[in-house]
Amino acid sequence: MSLDYSRERRAGVGTFVMDVYCPRCGEPWEIDTFHDVADERGETFAAVFAAFQSEGCGATGWVPTCERATDDGARMRADMSGALAEMLGDDVDGIAAMMEDFGAGGW
Ligand SMILES: [Zn+2]
Repeated sequence: MSLDYSRERRAGVGTFVMDVYCPRCGEPWEIDTFHDVADERGETFAAVFAAFQSEGCGATGWVPTCERATDDGARMRADMSGALAEMLGDDVDGIAAMMEDFGAGGW
């Protein structure tokens, strides 16, 4: 059993993946994505994450603009993510940790 746990941990599965959620559509994004986008554009992480908070997925340039969530789980993720970002600002690790504490991955 402990072997499975170790393998899961190495693979970055479950609680060890830190996601934040689009405030428009509720889609999960790995935090590293925003570092990658910042590197691509020569921008700061904070600037890229702020754009994501105001514009949604399309701000990454990796996908077209997204639609506002319509199903209950996605809308709850989106609304909660937006509210946490207002409270915590660019503390993206804090936002991701709180979303995980609330069980957002299972909604
Ligand atoms: Zn989105």
